Amino acid sequence: MTFCVVGAGFSGAVIARHLAESGHEVVVVDERPHIGGNCYTERDSETGVMVHKYGPHIFHTSDERTWTYIQKFGTFIPYVNRVKAISRAHVYTLPVNLLTINQFFGTTMGPKEARAFIEKKADKSLHNPRSFEEQALSMIGEDLYRAFFYGYTRKQWGARAHTASCIHSQAFTLAL
Ligand SMILES: Cc1cc2nc3c(=O)[nH]c(=O)nc-3n(C[C@H](O)[C@H](O)[C@H](O)COP(=O)(O)OP(=O)(O)OC[C@H]3O[C@@H](n4cnc5c(N)ncnc54)[C@H](O)[C@@H]3O)c2cc1C
Repeated sequence: MTFCVVGAGFSGAVIARHLAESGHEVVVVDERPHIGGNCYTERDSETGVMVHKYGPHIFHTSDERTWTYIQKFGTFIPYVNRVKAISRAHVYTLPVNLLTINQFFGTTMGPKEARAFIEKKADKSLHNPRSFEEQALSMIGEDLYRAFFYGYTRKQWGARAHTASCIHSQAFTLAL
């Protein structure tokens, strides 16, 4: 069978490879002049530095199968990702976790207390969230949302939070 895969990012590339390895004819097309989708990198001709054209990407997985699979195609350099964010003139640890919550609200809560505290902040009237913003408000409430997610959504995803879909709700898995 012949397949046409539209998009040469990770999704298209993986699907195309599997189809080809299963003996199918595959044509991959992309409107961009390169493969790799948003993960594409190119070397800066002046400095020789590898630039992540569409924003920095770090590969991370806890899935053994994915890790074994991906290593067939390249060598990975270990990297520890420690993210900090500046909000309201203070530096906070990201992704939002127990430490961030205590830093932000000036508290010394343990995991259980913090969970109950955040639940109280959540907007319970939003039963059926229709946007990223509503999803966030229904789960973490106004304060944390404004401080850590509102601007991030716009900068990282180029989308306004009140129109972005709920698909990015994974960002709200708070590590308590
Ligand atoms: C700034 C930024 C940082 C990120 N950081 C990370 C990170 O650190 N770690 C991580 O795991 N993920 C990260 N991501 C997410 C990651 O980029 C995506 O999960 C991944 O690229 C998705 O791969 P994909 O193949 O589904 O889509 P894409 O990479 O978007 O590829 C889709 C491809 O399809 C092409 N295409 C679309 N429509 C058409 C069409 N009609 N005709 C022809 N071609 C078309 C596009 O040109 C594109 O090349 C980040 C994303 C962004 C934007």
